[in-house]
Amino acid sequence: MIDERKQLYSEAKINSKSIGKKAFENLSHSISRLLERKIRDRLEKKEGVILLQNRRGFAPFIECKSCGYVEQCDRCNVTMTYHATKKHMRCHYCGKVKPAPTTCTQCGGFEFSLNGFGTQRVEQELAALFPSAVTVRMDMDTTTRKGSHEKILRQFGEGGADILLGTQMVAKGLDFPRVTLVGVISADTQMMLPDFRSAERTFQLLTQVAGRAGRSTLAGEVIIQTSQPNHYALKHVREHDFVGFYNEEIEFRKSINYPPFSRVIVVEFKGRNERNVEQTATSFGNQLFTLLNRESILGPSPAVLSKIKNEYRWQIIIKADKDGDKNGTRARHAVARVVNNLSGQSIKSKVKVTVDVDPVGIL
Ligand SMILES: [Zn+2]
Ligand SMILES: [Zn+2]
Repeated sequence: MIDERKQLYSEAKINSKSIGKKAFENLSHSISRLLERKIRDRLEKKEGVILLQNRRGFAPFIECKSCGYVEQCDRCNVTMTYHATKKHMRCHYCGKVKPAPTTCTQCGGFEFSLNGFGTQRVEQELAALFPSAVTVRMDMDTTTRKGSHEKILRQFGEGGADILLGTQMVAKGLDFPRVTLVGVISADTQMMLPDFRSAERTFQLLTQVAGRAGRSTLAGEVIIQTSQPNHYALKHVREHDFVGFYNEEIEFRKSINYPPFSRVIVVEFKGRNERNVEQTATSFGNQLFTLLNRESILGPSPAVLSKIKNEYRWQIIIKADKDGDKNGTRARHAVARVVNNLSGQSIKSKVKVTVDVDPVGIL
């Protein structure tokens, strides 16, 4: 996609000599020319297309053009997603809704750019590229009503729609013989998350969605768009190579001593008072340091999602080494002891302490 952008930019530069600045408008696309060509080809042949974009809404970032401020939820430390259908911003973590900004809260600027692509924006782009094609969108926003999920799938399955576009909902288990093209709008959304399972999840999601193409005698084709084409997860998705991915992933896990080589325990501290949360996490850490190997403890530090629903979040991550602490028993006992020691303090300061052994994610 980086090459694609460079190409579009250099063409715009040439065009600007005759049409001026207008040439640089609307340069951001989520659908590459290659994917566009492939979709056009399937539409002509009346074959089905499935497109995956694992992000709902229109644009996940609304940025002030003069100071670069990105609109965030007041209750969570995450950016708010612009929803074009309702023309408002919504927080995907707590559900809070705000009208789209007219002036910047930081600098008073009144021009904004919508960055990133959600399913709504891809849908709009598809409508502009292929005006006569019927696209159905399947994400959390279009499937809230009972039966709507089945209705969308039936319409697509019976040929009443040409393109099925959606979030990870479109990846699992669908079996439509007429689908010969699967397109992944951006493989990067999940791959770049700071979580040790990101590569595994990406590999899993992409192999799953790739399997939706060519389920009958018609040959299938999969196009994956990315800015990280050399990422090992993608390399193995391309070859459909489970063993190759496993071998590389297991080496990586071993080198940083993450599961399955260790047991991971996440202790989370949550509360409305940021200072109290930090203090509780710090005292927890200090006690834990006396009980366990210092090197097996990460933090205390603010979580990646450092504030959700007005609650600040800190965490301590413990990696219990399988050699020294086979089932993580020692680490779990140490954590339980500190939880017990500090229960008075955490109740008084209204900080919730939760312990998650082998968590599915660490964000
Ligand atoms: Zn601003
Ligand atoms: Zn929120």
